[in-house]
Amino acid sequence: MTAALKPTETGLVLPTYADVEIAAGRLQGVAHRTPALTSRTANERTRANLVFKPENLQRMGAFKFRGGYNAIAALSPAQKKAGVVSFSSGNHAQAIAYAGRLLGVPTTIIMPLDAPAAKVAATRGYGAEVITYDRYTQDRLAIGAELAQTRGLALIPPYDHPDVIAGQGTAAKELIEDAGPLDILLVCLGGGGLLAGCALAAKALNPACRVFGVEPEAGNDGQQSLRSGKIVKIAVPKTIADGAQTPFLGDYTFPIIQALVEDIVTVSDEALVSAMRFFAERMKLVVEPTGCLAAAAAFTGAVPVEGKRVGVIISGGNVDLGSFARFLAPAG
Ligand SMILES: *Cc1c(COP(=O)(O)O)cnc(C)c1O
Repeated sequence: MTAALKPTETGLVLPTYADVEIAAGRLQGVAHRTPALTSRTANERTRANLVFKPENLQRMGAFKFRGGYNAIAALSPAQKKAGVVSFSSGNHAQAIAYAGRLLGVPTTIIMPLDAPAAKVAATRGYGAEVITYDRYTQDRLAIGAELAQTRGLALIPPYDHPDVIAGQGTAAKELIEDAGPLDILLVCLGGGGLLAGCALAAKALNPACRVFGVEPEAGNDGQQSLRSGKIVKIAVPKTIADGAQTPFLGDYTFPIIQALVEDIVTVSDEALVSAMRFFAERMKLVVEPTGCLAAAAAFTGAVPVEGKRVGVIISGGNVDLGSFARFLAPAG
C-alpha cells in the first residue's frame, strides 16, 4: 500500500516521502538503525565534512534489507501465503530471502550463474529456493514474470517497485535525522532504487541538499539517461561493482531521479579499490566494491565537496574474503 501520488505520463503512481515514513514504521525495531560515522582522515583528504551511513552494517550486510522487508510486509495476507519471487545478482536476493523468513513468507530467487558464491550460499542459507540463469543471454524479467504467473507468486523486483524504493529511502531519512542538514548527499546506483528513495527523503527533510548519483565508469547508463532525458539501455557492464551492473534505470526510479537528482557522476574501478582500502585501514569497515562508489566520488573529486557537509551512503559489505584480499593486495 502506498500513499496517493500523482500518476506519471506512463500512468505509474510514484512513491513519495509519505511512503518512506510508512516504510520507516514497518522497519522500526526490525532493521538496524546504522550509525552516522565520521573520519578525520577522510575530512582532511577531501577538505569537507563527510558523514558516512554504513549500510554494510545493516542486517544481511546491505541496505537492500530495508526495501525487501518493506515490500514483503506491504503484501496482503493472501499474497504472503502464496509467496514471493524475485531476481537479483546478490544482495536483493538475500534481502528477500531473509525478510521472507522473518515474515514467514516463502521465497523463490532467480540469480545469475556467475553471482558471487558467498551471495548464492547466503540466499540458500536464508531458506529461499534459488533458480539460476545466464545474465548475458537470458532475460530475468521474463523468467520472473513466468514464475509469478504459473505459481501465483508476487514479483518483487530489486529496484523498480514503489515499496522497495520507499524502504531504501529510510537510509537517507535516518542519516539526515542523525547527522543534521547536509549540503550534498552521495548515493551509488544500479537500477536507482536506493538513489530514488534517498532523494525522496533528502528533498523532503532537507530541500537545500543536492543529491548526486554515482555509478561505475564502465556502466554509465544512469548518467546518459539523466542527461538525455530518457532511459538509456547498455550492455551488462564489466566492473568490480557487481551491485551496479544493472544496464538500465526503472520506470519508477527514473522519473524520481529526473525530478530530484542534480547529476550522476562516474568513478573508475581503481578508485573503488582505493576507497575499499581506506575503509578497511582507517575505519575498520569491510565494504564491497559497489559500496565504495559514493565515497570514491568524494575522494576523486568527481563531485566537488570542498567546504561542504556531505552525506555518503556506504551501500553494502558483502564481498567474499578471497576477492576482498585480492582487491587489497599490493599490486605487484
Ligand atoms: C543493489 C545494490 C546497489 C544498487 O542499488 P539500486 O537500488 O539498484 O540502485 C548498490 N550497492 C549495493 C551494495 C547493492 O546491493
